[in-house]
Amino acid sequence: MRLDSSYILSTINPVVGLLFALTFYLIWRQQPDRRHILHWAVAFFLGSLGFSFEFLSYFDPMFRLSDGVNIFVPICVLLLVRGVCLRYTGIAPTRLLILILGVTYLTASWINFVHQNAFGRGLTISIGIVAMLTAATAAMLKYRARDRIDFGILVALLAASVLLLGRPVLSFFIEGAPEKGLIEDTSFWAVSMKVAGLYSLLVFAILFMLRIAADLFAELNQQSVTDSLSGLLNRRGFFAAAETLAREATPALPISVLLLDIDHFKHVNDNYGHQIGDRVIRTMADLMQSSAPEAAMLGRLGGEEFAIFLPNTGSMAALAFAGALRTSMHLQHHVGIPSTHPVTVSIGVAEGTGEDLELLLHLADIGLYMAKNSGRDQVQMANTEMLVRDRRQRSGKPVRAGR
Ligand code: GH3
Ligand code: MG
Ligand code: MG
Repeated sequence: MRLDSSYILSTINPVVGLLFALTFYLIWRQQPDRRHILHWAVAFFLGSLGFSFEFLSYFDPMFRLSDGVNIFVPICVLLLVRGVCLRYTGIAPTRLLILILGVTYLTASWINFVHQNAFGRGLTISIGIVAMLTAATAAMLKYRARDRIDFGILVALLAASVLLLGRPVLSFFIEGAPEKGLIEDTSFWAVSMKVAGLYSLLVFAILFMLRIAADLFAELNQQSVTDSLSGLLNRRGFFAAAETLAREATPALPISVLLLDIDHFKHVNDNYGHQIGDRVIRTMADLMQSSAPEAAMLGRLGGEEFAIFLPNTGSMAALAFAGALRTSMHLQHHVGIPSTHPVTVSIGVAEGTGEDLELLLHLADIGLYMAKNSGRDQVQMANTEMLVRDRRQRSGKPVRAGR
């Protein structure tokens, strides 16, 4: 056994691979539904195992780096590619990948044992790996919403393919085809394998870490603007999105806002329980989601109050939509509530041009107030004249009752 600096160097790839494998595994434990992270953890572990053969060769000459790499790196790549496909398309071409892996192993073994050709074996493994990487590249090209990190992963996949095919070819021109069992540690063939391995480990690990971090950040962002009970935007999310949409609106095109409030909701809770009340809130949200146009923005402002922002929609269309929604709620059967006691909703509608969102919401609020005051289970639209009247009334009266 000889111990020198190459002994230390031989630990770099296995240790780096193992550290990343452990990191991915720990991240996956926190988010077990993201299976692609587990795939990457196992992939890095197998990559580390393949490169550990060089380190082990110092203890037992039976271990050879090229054997370790040829055995473990193709499975490592299969899992890495499967993870990428799962992350970007939700499905993975597993059978195709296993077929490529099987053909690669069989061909490489045949070249190795029958022809005793290390160069042919290495080249076959490289081609097999590139074929698998192409599946990941295809999955990423199919994914349309690519950001900078995704672009980086795509470039890394292409670069890895070029590197994998270029390395044996370059090696052939530099030192000819290496002979089996006679590969020198310092040969271009062996050194380039280790360097390519290290760069691939680092580049993919860093890009995948960035992807995971960005995904987590996006999810937290999404959670902060989503109402967990109804799945609609929460108050904060609705106002932020409505402001953006209102700012983008062309003055020539109208926008409409609906404010909705379930009638006598306190009775629903008191008579049938809070759980049934929650279910009514979810049903209301489902009705809104299934009937609203695609461009509409839906929010639960709190309790049993909802809002709908309709871009490019005039008052006629908004009133028709609100009327249909009110009718659906009236006719809706709720589990645990007798059909003789329909749960109804009052809706206030307002139309504007988007210059003054606050005014628009205020008008819709007046409409809702009118709907409540006129007996509930109805749609009312407010205009600016009513706004003046409302201001006058409110200066004499406190805030409206019941909401
Ligand atoms: P009105 O017709 O005037 O709107 O009467 P209302 O009873 O619906 O009005 P009010 O706003 O006074 O009552 C709202 C009730 O909604 C009070 C509160 O207990 C209940 N509530 C608020 N948030 C939730 C929730 O998340 N789940 C359930 N089940 N109830 C909620
Ligand atoms: Mg209410
Ligand atoms: Mg209310």
